[in-house]
Amino acid sequence: MIQITMPLNFLGTVYREIRQAMIDMSEMFDLLEQPAEVKDAPDAKPLAVTGGEVVLDDVRFGYDPERPVLKGVSIRVGAGETVAIVGPSGSGKSTIGRLLFRFYDVTGGAIRIDGQDLRAVTQESLHAQIGVVPQDTVLFNDSILYNIAYGRPDATRDEIEAAARAAKIHDFIRSLPEGYDTQVGERGLKLSGGEKQRVGIARTLLKNPPILLLDEATSALDTETERDIQSELKAMGEGRTVVTIAHRLSTIADADRIVVLVKGEIVEEGTHAELLAANGRYASLWSRQAAELPDDEPRLAHPGKD
Ligand code: ATP
Repeated sequence: MIQITMPLNFLGTVYREIRQAMIDMSEMFDLLEQPAEVKDAPDAKPLAVTGGEVVLDDVRFGYDPERPVLKGVSIRVGAGETVAIVGPSGSGKSTIGRLLFRFYDVTGGAIRIDGQDLRAVTQESLHAQIGVVPQDTVLFNDSILYNIAYGRPDATRDEIEAAARAAKIHDFIRSLPEGYDTQVGERGLKLSGGEKQRVGIARTLLKNPPILLLDEATSALDTETERDIQSELKAMGEGRTVVTIAHRLSTIADADRIVVLVKGEIVEEGTHAELLAANGRYASLWSRQAAELPDDEPRLAHPGKD
């Protein structure tokens, strides 16, 4: 019996891990539409994260060699820092996320985590170290317990509940007649956008990755829910390196640094206050967004008045 179950368990774990990585990534980057382009180098080593510094060094990339998308992008995200990437649609923000996951290899320059070129490390170890909180967390047709534990299948019940508490979803789960055993997903209880996102946060907290990639983390939510969830997202970023790909500038104003990407090039970089004072591209994006805000959103400071 043992002889049979052990390999099956092992395969189950591997399968789960692969599926987890696929889910994380497909949620975020429409992976299913994307070809698997890269393979581990024969001598690839596991990524050893010491602090979690992420460096893009003169990164060049195009999906089609004729059409460059990133034209020499250099960004350094120090260990524990939060850097937000903003810019108009099509400027290459999500592409940076895809390259960080190494869905594709850069065509020039390099991406390094703690000094290790992504091309030299195993993809499995890379994906294990980066947590993704996607716009819209995918739920499996299973219990809410399973859905949270997916972040780390060997987690104990106490750890799962602690993650749910930190994500501020524990009380909601407890209020359900079947609690953590409640079936969710397409065939079960439908959760709201905010509840799903909290499940995603709890999942990521359990996984406990040193690096986080937040993709427009709250765009699927209404303004009020978004504001509520911001504090949990922020708390999750404490002590981790965070790269945020953002459209809604209001969610990234307190990032350590903001990088403004336009047509695959960095045109500005600084803190929110510095960029407003510079009165350039960021300031104009900011004032345009302030003008478009719905009535329930507090008015944002106009550039120049901050
Ligand atoms: P948005 O804010 O609209 O999501 P973005 O800044 O994230 O935009 P990217 O998704 O990185 O922009 O896209 C940058 C450019 O690369 C765009 O011109 C886009 O059409 C192109 N592009 C993105 N994905 C692919 C792909 N899989 N194949 C070919 N071209 C792509």
